[in-house]
Amino acid sequence: MARTAKSKGKNSLTIGIDLGGTKIAAGLCREGEVLHKVVVPTNAAQGFDAVVAAMAEAARQAMGDTDPAAVRGVGVGAAGQIDSQTGAVLYAPNLNWRQAPLGQKLAEALRLPVRVVNDVRAATMAEWKYGAGKGLHSFINIFLGTGVGSGLVLNGTLCEGATNTAGEIGHICLDPAGPLCGCGHAGCFEAYSSGRGIENEVKRRLQAGAPSALREKVGARLDQITGPLIGQAAREGDPLALEVLAWAGRHLGLVLANLHTLLNPQKILLGGGVMALADFFLPAAREAMHRHILSVADRGEDLLGRARFENDAVLLGGSALFA
Ligand SMILES: [Zn+2]
Repeated sequence: MARTAKSKGKNSLTIGIDLGGTKIAAGLCREGEVLHKVVVPTNAAQGFDAVVAAMAEAARQAMGDTDPAAVRGVGVGAAGQIDSQTGAVLYAPNLNWRQAPLGQKLAEALRLPVRVVNDVRAATMAEWKYGAGKGLHSFINIFLGTGVGSGLVLNGTLCEGATNTAGEIGHICLDPAGPLCGCGHAGCFEAYSSGRGIENEVKRRLQAGAPSALREKVGARLDQITGPLIGQAAREGDPLALEVLAWAGRHLGLVLANLHTLLNPQKILLGGGVMALADFFLPAAREAMHRHILSVADRGEDLLGRARFENDAVLLGGSALFA
Protein backbone atom coordinates (compact mmCIF):
# COMPACT_ATOMS: atom_id res chain seq x y z
CA MET A 1 0.00 0.00 0.00
CA ALA A 2 1.35 3.39 -0.91
CA ARG A 3 1.91 5.14 2.35
CA THR A 4 3.99 7.56 1.15
CA ALA A 5 6.54 10.24 0.96
CA LYS A 6 5.30 11.92 4.14
CA SER A 7 6.31 8.97 6.31
CA LYS A 8 9.75 8.77 4.73
CA GLY A 9 9.77 5.01 4.51
CA LYS A 10 8.66 4.48 8.10
CA ASN A 11 5.08 3.57 8.77
CA SER A 12 2.71 5.76 10.68
CA LEU A 13 2.84 4.12 14.11
CA THR A 14 3.30 6.38 17.12
CA ILE A 15 2.86 6.01 20.86
CA GLY A 16 0.74 8.35 22.92
CA ILE A 17 0.93 8.53 26.71
CA ASP A 18 -1.50 10.20 29.10
CA LEU A 19 0.37 10.85 32.33
CA GLY A 20 -2.17 11.48 35.07
CA GLY A 21 -1.84 11.81 38.83
CA THR A 22 -3.28 8.34 39.45
CA LYS A 23 -2.85 6.43 36.21
CA ILE A 24 -0.71 6.21 33.10
CA ALA A 25 -2.35 5.25 29.81
CA ALA A 26 -0.08 4.34 26.91
CA GLY A 27 -1.35 3.47 23.45
CA LEU A 28 0.11 2.30 20.18
CA CYS A 29 -1.66 4.51 17.65
CA ARG A 30 -2.03 4.98 13.94
CA GLU A 31 -3.52 8.23 12.66
CA GLY A 32 -6.07 8.81 15.39
CA GLU A 33 -6.82 5.18 16.10
CA VAL A 34 -5.69 3.47 19.31
CA LEU A 35 -4.50 0.01 18.27
CA HIS A 36 -3.47 -1.28 21.69
CA LYS A 37 -3.79 0.47 25.05
CA VAL A 38 -2.24 -0.27 28.44
CA VAL A 39 -3.22 1.41 31.70
CA VAL A 40 -1.06 1.19 34.83
CA PRO A 41 -1.05 3.05 38.15
CA THR A 42 1.18 6.14 38.34
CA ASN A 43 2.31 5.50 41.91
CA ALA A 44 3.50 9.12 42.08
CA ALA A 45 4.59 8.70 45.70
CA GLN A 46 7.44 6.41 44.53
CA GLY A 47 9.10 9.39 42.87
CA PHE A 48 10.15 10.60 39.44
CA ASP A 49 12.44 7.69 38.41
CA ALA A 50 9.81 5.08 39.27
CA VAL A 51 7.12 6.95 37.32
CA VAL A 52 9.39 7.22 34.26
CA ALA A 53 10.13 3.48 34.52
CA ALA A 54 6.38 2.74 34.73
CA MET A 55 5.74 4.94 31.67
CA ALA A 56 8.47 3.17 29.70
CA GLU A 57 7.12 -0.26 30.67
CA ALA A 58 3.57 0.76 29.71
CA ALA A 59 4.85 1.99 26.34
CA ARG A 60 6.70 -1.31 25.76
CA GLN A 61 3.58 -3.29 26.62
CA ALA A 62 1.52 -1.12 24.28
CA MET A 63 4.02 -1.84 21.50
CA GLY A 64 3.83 -5.58 22.12
CA ASP A 65 5.56 -7.39 19.27
CA THR A 66 5.88 -4.26 17.16
CA ASP A 67 9.43 -3.48 16.11
CA PRO A 68 10.43 -0.26 17.95
CA ALA A 69 12.13 0.84 14.74
CA ALA A 70 8.66 1.09 13.18
CA VAL A 71 7.53 3.62 15.80
CA ARG A 72 8.15 7.27 14.97
CA GLY A 73 8.10 8.59 18.48
CA VAL A 74 6.40 8.88 21.84
CA GLY A 75 4.18 11.87 22.63
CA VAL A 76 3.23 12.54 26.25
CA GLY A 77 0.45 14.73 27.60
CA ALA A 78 1.04 15.60 31.26
CA ALA A 79 -0.87 17.77 33.71
CA GLY A 80 1.06 20.84 34.78
CA GLN A 81 3.39 23.38 33.29
CA ILE A 82 5.56 21.86 30.57
CA ASP A 83 8.47 23.22 28.56
CA SER A 84 7.57 21.56 25.27
CA GLN A 85 10.93 22.56 23.76
CA THR A 86 12.92 20.47 26.24
CA GLY A 87 10.24 18.02 27.37
CA ALA A 88 10.78 19.08 31.00
CA VAL A 89 7.92 19.22 33.47
CA LEU A 90 8.46 22.61 35.09
CA TYR A 91 5.76 22.18 37.73
CA ALA A 92 3.20 19.43 38.22
CA PRO A 93 1.45 19.75 41.59
CA ASN A 94 -0.40 16.43 41.22
CA LEU A 95 2.93 14.58 40.89
CA ASN A 96 4.89 16.87 43.19
CA TRP A 97 7.45 17.46 40.42
CA ARG A 98 9.48 20.58 39.72
CA GLN A 99 12.01 20.87 36.87
CA ALA A 100 11.70 17.17 36.08
CA PRO A 101 13.51 16.15 32.83
CA LEU A 102 10.73 13.79 31.71
CA GLY A 103 11.28 13.90 27.95
CA GLN A 104 15.01 13.27 28.25
CA LYS A 105 14.72 10.37 30.72
CA LEU A 106 11.89 8.66 28.85
CA ALA A 107 13.79 8.97 25.55
CA GLU A 108 16.81 7.34 27.20
CA ALA A 109 14.67 4.51 28.59
CA LEU A 110 12.86 3.78 25.31
CA ARG A 111 15.52 4.84 22.80
CA LEU A 112 12.84 6.66 20.85
CA PRO A 113 12.21 10.37 20.24
CA VAL A 114 9.93 11.80 22.96
CA ARG A 115 7.91 15.01 23.09
CA VAL A 116 5.95 16.28 26.08
CA VAL A 117 3.11 18.81 26.15
CA ASN A 118 0.52 19.93 28.67
CA ASP A 119 -2.39 17.47 28.80
CA VAL A 120 -5.13 19.89 27.74
CA ARG A 121 -2.99 21.04 24.82
CA ALA A 122 -2.47 17.37 23.88
CA ALA A 123 -6.25 16.88 23.92
CA THR A 124 -6.54 19.96 21.71
CA MET A 125 -4.07 18.40 19.27
CA ALA A 126 -6.26 15.27 19.14
CA GLU A 127 -9.34 17.36 18.31
CA TRP A 128 -7.38 19.34 15.74
CA LYS A 129 -5.86 16.37 13.92
CA TYR A 130 -8.60 13.77 14.26
CA GLY A 131 -11.68 15.20 15.96
CA ALA A 132 -14.09 18.12 16.06
CA GLY A 133 -11.38 20.67 15.22
CA LYS A 134 -10.24 18.91 12.05
CA GLY A 135 -9.78 21.35 9.20
CA LEU A 136 -10.07 24.46 11.40
CA HIS A 137 -7.28 27.05 11.61
CA SER A 138 -8.54 28.87 14.72
CA PHE A 139 -10.47 27.22 17.54
CA ILE A 140 -10.56 26.95 21.31
CA ASN A 141 -10.91 23.61 23.10
CA ILE A 142 -12.30 24.03 26.61
CA PHE A 143 -12.16 21.19 29.12
CA LEU A 144 -14.69 21.44 31.94
CA GLY A 145 -13.65 18.86 34.51
CA THR A 146 -12.75 19.04 38.19
CA GLY A 147 -10.95 22.19 37.09
CA VAL A 148 -11.00 24.07 33.79
CA GLY A 149 -8.35 24.01 31.09
CA SER A 150 -8.17 25.02 27.48
CA GLY A 151 -6.04 24.76 24.39
CA LEU A 152 -5.85 27.43 21.70
CA VAL A 153 -5.19 26.86 18.03
CA LEU A 154 -4.75 30.24 16.36
CA ASN A 155 -4.04 30.73 12.68
CA GLY A 156 -2.86 27.15 12.35
CA THR A 157 -0.57 27.10 15.39
CA LEU A 158 -1.03 25.51 18.81
CA CYS A 159 -0.50 28.47 21.11
CA GLU A 160 1.76 27.96 24.16
CA GLY A 161 2.68 31.48 25.21
CA ALA A 162 5.95 32.93 26.50
CA THR A 163 6.04 30.72 29.59
CA ASN A 164 3.85 27.83 28.43
CA THR A 165 0.68 28.93 30.19
CA ALA A 166 -1.43 30.20 27.29
CA GLY A 167 -4.95 28.89 27.64
CA GLU A 168 -5.14 28.76 31.43
CA ILE A 169 -8.61 30.22 31.17
CA GLY A 170 -9.69 28.65 34.46
CA HIS A 171 -7.94 31.54 36.16
CA ILE A 172 -9.49 34.40 34.24
CA CYS A 173 -10.90 36.61 36.99
CA LEU A 174 -14.64 37.20 36.74
CA ASP A 175 -15.10 38.92 40.11
CA PRO A 176 -12.35 39.90 42.56
CA ALA A 177 -14.92 39.46 45.35
CA GLY A 178 -16.05 36.06 44.04
CA PRO A 179 -15.53 32.56 45.42
CA LEU A 180 -12.01 31.39 46.23
CA CYS A 181 -10.17 29.34 43.60
CA GLY A 182 -7.69 26.52 44.21
CA CYS A 183 -4.93 28.81 42.88
CA GLY A 184 -5.43 31.14 45.86
CA HIS A 185 -7.10 33.96 43.94
CA ALA A 186 -10.74 34.97 44.24
CA GLY A 187 -13.38 34.89 41.53
CA CYS A 188 -11.55 32.75 38.94
CA PHE A 189 -13.73 31.23 36.19
CA GLU A 190 -12.81 27.78 37.54
CA ALA A 191 -14.45 28.66 40.87
CA TYR A 192 -17.78 29.02 39.02
CA SER A 193 -18.05 26.60 36.13
CA SER A 194 -15.80 23.63 36.93
CA GLY A 195 -17.08 20.49 38.63
CA ARG A 196 -15.47 21.61 41.87
CA GLY A 197 -16.83 25.15 41.51
CA ILE A 198 -20.37 23.86 41.02
CA GLU A 199 -20.11 21.49 43.99
CA ASN A 200 -18.73 24.24 46.23
CA GLU A 201 -21.52 26.65 45.30
CA VAL A 202 -24.16 24.00 46.06
CA LYS A 203 -22.53 23.46 49.47
CA ARG A 204 -22.38 27.20 50.18
CA ARG A 205 -26.09 27.63 49.37
CA LEU A 206 -27.04 24.60 51.49
CA GLN A 207 -25.03 26.00 54.40
CA ALA A 208 -26.83 29.32 53.93
CA GLY A 209 -30.15 27.48 54.35
CA ALA A 210 -31.42 27.23 50.77
CA PRO A 211 -34.21 24.64 50.44
CA SER A 212 -33.22 21.60 48.38
CA ALA A 213 -33.91 17.89 48.07
CA LEU A 214 -30.13 17.46 48.26
CA ARG A 215 -30.38 18.16 51.98
CA GLU A 216 -32.41 14.95 52.46
CA LYS A 217 -29.98 12.98 50.31
CA VAL A 218 -26.80 13.86 52.23
CA GLY A 219 -27.99 15.26 55.57
CA ALA A 220 -25.14 17.10 57.26
CA ARG A 221 -22.55 15.29 55.11
CA LEU A 222 -21.97 18.07 52.61
CA ASP A 223 -18.75 16.37 51.49
CA GLN A 224 -21.01 13.80 49.81
CA ILE A 225 -22.27 16.42 47.34
CA THR A 226 -20.98 15.33 43.93
CA GLY A 227 -21.58 16.26 40.32
CA PRO A 228 -23.68 13.15 39.58
CA LEU A 229 -25.82 13.83 42.67
CA ILE A 230 -26.36 17.44 41.57
CA GLY A 231 -27.24 16.18 38.09
CA GLN A 232 -29.77 13.74 39.55
CA ALA A 233 -31.33 16.51 41.66
CA ALA A 234 -31.53 18.78 38.59
CA ARG A 235 -33.29 16.07 36.61
CA GLU A 236 -35.79 15.76 39.47
CA GLY A 237 -36.43 19.51 39.24
CA ASP A 238 -34.62 20.58 42.40
CA PRO A 239 -34.54 24.39 42.33
CA LEU A 240 -31.16 24.73 44.09
CA ALA A 241 -29.42 22.35 41.66
CA LEU A 242 -31.06 24.05 38.68
CA GLU A 243 -30.16 27.54 39.93
CA VAL A 244 -26.52 26.68 40.59
CA LEU A 245 -26.12 25.03 37.17
CA ALA A 246 -27.65 28.08 35.49
CA TRP A 247 -25.28 30.27 37.55
CA ALA A 248 -22.32 28.19 36.33
CA GLY A 249 -23.67 28.49 32.78
CA ARG A 250 -23.98 32.28 32.94
CA HIS A 251 -20.35 32.58 34.01
CA LEU A 252 -19.26 30.15 31.29
CA GLY A 253 -21.17 32.28 28.78
CA LEU A 254 -19.33 35.42 29.91
CA VAL A 255 -15.98 33.73 29.40
CA LEU A 256 -17.02 32.35 26.00
CA ALA A 257 -18.03 35.85 24.90
CA ASN A 258 -14.79 37.36 26.15
CA LEU A 259 -12.69 34.68 24.46
CA HIS A 260 -14.57 35.23 21.25
CA THR A 261 -14.11 38.99 21.44
CA LEU A 262 -10.38 38.55 22.01
CA LEU A 263 -9.56 35.75 19.56
CA ASN A 264 -12.42 35.46 17.04
CA PRO A 265 -12.19 31.65 16.72
CA GLN A 266 -14.08 29.66 14.08
CA LYS A 267 -15.33 27.33 16.78
CA ILE A 268 -15.28 26.81 20.55
CA LEU A 269 -15.34 23.13 21.54
CA LEU A 270 -16.55 22.05 24.96
CA GLY A 271 -15.62 18.76 26.62
CA GLY A 272 -14.96 17.17 30.01
CA GLY A 273 -17.09 15.45 32.61
CA VAL A 274 -19.16 18.54 33.45
CA MET A 275 -20.67 18.30 29.95
CA ALA A 276 -22.80 15.44 31.32
CA LEU A 277 -24.84 18.29 32.86
CA ALA A 278 -24.87 20.37 29.67
CA ASP A 279 -28.68 20.25 29.38
CA PHE A 280 -28.87 22.29 32.58
CA PHE A 281 -26.13 24.88 32.09
CA LEU A 282 -25.64 25.25 28.35
CA PRO A 283 -28.86 27.21 27.66
CA ALA A 284 -27.78 29.85 30.22
CA ALA A 285 -24.27 29.83 28.77
CA ARG A 286 -25.52 30.39 25.22
CA GLU A 287 -27.84 33.16 26.36
CA ALA A 288 -25.07 35.00 28.24
CA MET A 289 -22.57 34.43 25.44
CA HIS A 290 -24.79 35.91 22.75
CA ARG A 291 -25.73 38.82 24.99
CA HIS A 292 -22.09 39.78 25.59
CA ILE A 293 -20.51 38.89 22.26
CA LEU A 294 -19.84 41.70 19.79
CA SER A 295 -22.87 41.51 17.52
CA VAL A 296 -20.79 42.12 14.40
CA ALA A 297 -18.78 38.96 15.18
CA ASP A 298 -21.67 36.76 16.35
CA ARG A 299 -22.24 33.86 13.97
CA GLY A 300 -25.04 32.36 16.05
CA GLU A 301 -25.33 28.82 17.30
CA ASP A 302 -22.58 27.52 15.02
CA LEU A 303 -19.87 28.85 17.29
CA LEU A 304 -20.16 26.14 19.96
CA GLY A 305 -19.32 22.48 19.35
CA ARG A 306 -18.67 19.35 21.38
CA ALA A 307 -15.20 17.86 21.67
CA ARG A 308 -15.12 14.41 20.06
CA PHE A 309 -12.72 12.55 22.32
CA GLU A 310 -13.20 11.76 25.98
CA ASN A 311 -10.97 9.22 27.72
CA ASP A 312 -8.41 8.85 24.93
CA ALA A 313 -8.07 12.55 24.06
CA VAL A 314 -4.71 13.13 25.81
CA LEU A 315 -3.22 9.84 24.61
CA LEU A 316 -4.29 10.48 21.00
CA GLY A 317 -3.02 14.04 21.19
CA GLY A 318 0.34 12.73 22.38
CA SER A 319 0.40 10.33 19.44
CA ALA A 320 -0.41 13.23 17.10
CA LEU A 321 2.81 15.02 18.08
CA PHE A 322 4.61 12.61 15.75
CA ALA A 323 1.87 12.20 13.15
ZN1 LIG B 1 -7.61 30.47 39.98
